[in-house]
Amino acid sequence: MKFTPEKYNIPDKPQVPYIDTEEIWNYLNNAKPSNTRIQEIVSKSLSKERLNLEEVATLIRADKPEQIEMIKSGARMLKEKVYGKRIVLFAPLYVGNLCQNNCEYCGFKATNKDTVRKTLSNEELIKNVEALEHNGQKRLILVYGEHPRYNPEYIAKTVKTVYGVKTGNGEIRRVNINAAPLSIEGFKTVKDAGIGTYQVFQETYDPEAYSKYHKGGRKAAYDNRLVSLDRAQEAGLDDVGIGVLFGLADWRFDVMGLVRHTNHLEACYNVGPHTISFPRLQDAAEFKVDPEFAVSDEEFTRIVAILRLAVPYTGMILTAREPIHIRKEVLQYGCSQIDAGTKIEMGAYSEKENKKQDLNQEQFLINDDRSLGEVIDELLDGDYLPSFCTACYRKGRTGEHFMEFSVPGFIKRFCTPNAILTLAEYIEDYAKEDTAVKGWKLIDKNIRDIKEPKLEASVKMKIEIIKKGKRDLYY
Ligand code: SAM
Ligand code: SF4
Repeated sequence: MKFTPEKYNIPDKPQVPYIDTEEIWNYLNNAKPSNTRIQEIVSKSLSKERLNLEEVATLIRADKPEQIEMIKSGARMLKEKVYGKRIVLFAPLYVGNLCQNNCEYCGFKATNKDTVRKTLSNEELIKNVEALEHNGQKRLILVYGEHPRYNPEYIAKTVKTVYGVKTGNGEIRRVNINAAPLSIEGFKTVKDAGIGTYQVFQETYDPEAYSKYHKGGRKAAYDNRLVSLDRAQEAGLDDVGIGVLFGLADWRFDVMGLVRHTNHLEACYNVGPHTISFPRLQDAAEFKVDPEFAVSDEEFTRIVAILRLAVPYTGMILTAREPIHIRKEVLQYGCSQIDAGTKIEMGAYSEKENKKQDLNQEQFLINDDRSLGEVIDELLDGDYLPSFCTACYRKGRTGEHFMEFSVPGFIKRFCTPNAILTLAEYIEDYAKEDTAVKGWKLIDKNIRDIKEPKLEASVKMKIEIIKKGKRDLYY
């Protein structure tokens, strides 16, 4: 899909910082949110166009209840119209919590001497992946602190190890990464290991707030992090994820920052971010969220709706940092991926007992510790179609979100059938009886909705093959 770069005060150049604080505040301070203007902007997004900074600032400044409702119902419509009811599931796996940085908000910061520092041994890594496979997971994101030990070769090695772990019908088919920014060479090395998405969150795009929270270590260099995903693109790794840790600075500025980052990538590389993450800051060891910037539930749901409208083509990731009721609410505004069955204490997946969360041993506390089975149950109750699909990436169809978004019929032809097939596998291998009953019912409904006789017959045939024990069928 072709993007037309807009005109900005700073022309975008590869690997050159692009955040102009004054420009962003100008947009925010001059926005004029009338009902008519908001309706126009929502309509632009519903016609599948990415919004510009002026338009996003207008949505951010909208504060009348009817305007906020326009934004939320617009996001709901976009989600239904473009993406349907599929929700992709994944789990995070912490590989190592050694860290040389001192991000004030993170339990893994170097100055926190109470945390037990641990890097999973090869054997522990395999055991944890086996445990995740036993639960039915197919997609992981590996998470690392920033430390010389976790160099690109090490990351690549752990990725390959994870792909190599097979248990019965269990296997991991997509490994994403959340780790420190790399050099161009480093990005090449991890790309060659077959990773999916490489995520680096800017945390906050506000340079002043950034330097307040990041004192010491490599992460203190704001500009280096800001253009790090340009280096990924230079390395040929075009599947990148951006994010903000909401609660560090004014959320309005940071929503604008995410959109500015998006149009920078579009302008320089003709490709936007594959995913946007919007974690909300949680209390951590020796750290309490600053009430001045704390994002309320109401603001958070609004942020999700605004981001959905702002960048209609991107995947949106919601994590277990959020409590169950918020997860439920924002799913309708356009989140496409959630984690489930999440444990963030090092090595915890392979432990039999569910331990109580301990602030000193974890990066932060999570608010949704339900099992994968429980989350799937709830998704089915809400008529959502849980998916473990990894087909596009393995078929070389990179940029699947762009295709889902821009290729007519793509979702009907590929995404829905693949979601159905991966759910059928899950039901056969891992589901409890009542989940299985609900799951097959939803599968039947989704097959009826295909309404293309040839494809319908083909999906039904593949399900029969899955029932006979074959796995990993996809379009
Ligand atoms: N060490 C790498 C880095 O900092 O980019 C990657 C891993 S770090 C463990 C992953 C993300 O966790 C960070 O980018 C940050 O957004 C998030 N995080 C850290 N502390 C947090 C907290 N107290 N609450 C919520 N998320 C937090
Ligand atoms: Fe280290 Fe990342 Fe935590 Fe910062 S957020 S202290 S870099 S693990």
